[in-house]
Amino acid sequence: MTSNGESGDSAVKVYVKEERLTVEEDMLHEFKGHRNFSKDDIPQAAIINKTQRPISRNLCGFLNTGAGGVVYCGVTDNGEVQGIHLTNYQKDHVLLSVQDLFSRFEPPVDSSMYTVHFVPVVTENDHVPDIPSFPVDPEQRNTPHILRTSKYCWCDKDASAQHDFGMISQLYVIEIEVFPWNPKSPLSVTSVTPIHPLFCNEEGLHFVRRLGGLHRPTLAEVIQLAEADTARYHTMNKE
Ligand SMILES: [Zn+2]
Repeated sequence: MTSNGESGDSAVKVYVKEERLTVEEDMLHEFKGHRNFSKDDIPQAAIINKTQRPISRNLCGFLNTGAGGVVYCGVTDNGEVQGIHLTNYQKDHVLLSVQDLFSRFEPPVDSSMYTVHFVPVVTENDHVPDIPSFPVDPEQRNTPHILRTSKYCWCDKDASAQHDFGMISQLYVIEIEVFPWNPKSPLSVTSVTPIHPLFCNEEGLHFVRRLGGLHRPTLAEVIQLAEADTARYHTMNKE
């Protein structure tokens, strides 16, 4: 973990602004232009116009296939990298929002089941990410972030103030990766048949990722899915 709490190798990986990702939207990949994770983060106008849906639905869909997947925030529907401006304080906010979101899933999803990467976005002539070194005030950093709202948090107001002083924060693609189901997980349905439970998001809704997008399964389909998973598990694990 770095000082920002993100894990791993994202420091070496960069995207070029407006490049097309090599992956497409499919069973394992979803592109989003915003970073509104829960239903409470969606602005009222976007709820009325149905222009934004919470990212929690896609994460839930990836959990319920058992195969996992990645949501890319800052990428258009057709796979073009735009990025989202984030200060260090806003990156903290994103990590806390995702953690808070998964804690509201049923059953709750812990940090061993996913990871968050901030991948810097650079312009074509600028392949080395030039991440501006914003001063980070430890006391400021301890200020609680305001989660579960579409209103601006203090970190957004701070970013806006920095912007007015000509300090442009780094662009990132936020990648939220849900790992494939681990049969050793304590959330396994039973110890004999360690298949994944059916997860619901903070709205109390169940989603399953399909090729054509998200699907809300009926009770009959849920039973079918669990039976298929059980059969698959016991076939694969036969002596
Ligand atoms: Zn914040």
